Amino acid sequence: MTELAIRLRGVVKRYGAITAVDGLDLDVPEGTCVGLLGPNGAGKSTTMRLLTAQAIADEGELDVLGFRLPQESKAARAQCGVVPQLDNLDTTLTVAQNLLVFSHLYRIPRAERGDAIERALVMAKLTDRRKERVDKLSGGMRRRLLIARALVHGPRLVLLDEPTVGLDPQVRQELWALIDALRSEGATILMSTHYIEEAQRLADTVLIMSHGKAVAAGSPAELVTEHAGSEVLEVYGAPARLEEVEAEAVGAGLRTRRTGTSVSILGVDNGNGLGIAGERRPANLEDVFVLLTGEEIG
Ligand code: ADP
Repeated sequence: MTELAIRLRGVVKRYGAITAVDGLDLDVPEGTCVGLLGPNGAGKSTTMRLLTAQAIADEGELDVLGFRLPQESKAARAQCGVVPQLDNLDTTLTVAQNLLVFSHLYRIPRAERGDAIERALVMAKLTDRRKERVDKLSGGMRRRLLIARALVHGPRLVLLDEPTVGLDPQVRQELWALIDALRSEGATILMSTHYIEEAQRLADTVLIMSHGKAVAAGSPAELVTEHAGSEVLEVYGAPARLEEVEAEAVGAGLRTRRTGTSVSILGVDNGNGLGIAGERRPANLEDVFVLLTGEEIG
C-alpha cells in the first residue's frame, strides 16, 4: 500500500465567524503531485498554513510524513520544503548565500552543504547566477530560487502555495517546467493554485475546494468525465435566445453554464444536443470548476 505523505481528516479552522476550512479530508500519497484548486477565499492558503503549523486547526486530525500536527510539527517541518506565496528572499545576499543560510537552518552537516547547494542550483537552473545578488535577478529567477531554497535539504515533501500567482505567462511556463522536473524525480508535492491550467498540467490528483470544503477529487481526466461528460455544446446568441436555450437544456435534464456571450451545455455526449445549433467541443477542467464552485475564472 502506498504511504500517505499527508492525511487530513475532518479538519476545521475558524477565524471568528468565518470557517476558512470546514471539515476537510485530504490524502497525498507519497510520490504524487496533488493540486488544491479553488477560487479566492476557498481555504487553500489556510490549509497550507495548517500543514506547516503556522495555523492550528480547531478540529480534526492532521498527519504529515507520519507526524501528528501540531504536536510533532517541528519533526514534520524538518523534512518539508516550503515555497511561500510571497517572495521572502534576502535581497542583500547572493543566490548561493541565500541557499547557505537555509542549509544552516535545516542543519545540513558542514561536509554536505556544498553538494546540497549545488544540487539545488542545478535543479533551478541557477548555477551560473550563484554569485549574483538577489536584487539583480529577474522575477522568474527569484521564483526559481525560492523553490531551490525549499529543496536544499532534500525534503520528502514539497509544499507550494500558489507558485505562479501574478507571474507573466512565460515565467509561469519556466516554473511549470521546474515543478514538472521535480515531479518526474518522484518528489511528493502539494500545490495550491487558482489557475485551472496549472492544476491540469501538473497535478496527478486535483482536489477542488470551495468555501473550505472539498467538493470533488480525482485526476483531471476523471473529474472531467465524472462531472462534465465528454462533450460540451457552446451556443452563441442574443441574451433572449440564450435564455431560451438554457431553459430547453435544463428542461431536458442537462446542466448549463454561462460564459459571457454564450451558454455551455454540458454532457451532450452521444448526440443528445436537443437539435440546438452550436459548436461542439471536448469538456475540460474549467467546465468542472465552474460547475462545482460557481466561480468564473478571471
Ligand atoms: P484561499 O487561499 O483559497 O484564497 P484563504 O485560506 O486565504 O483562501 O481564506 C479562506 C477564508 O478565510 C477567507 O474568507 C479569508 O478571508 C479567511 N481568512 C484567512 N485567513 C484569515 C485570518 N488570518 N483572519 C481572518 N480571516 C482569515
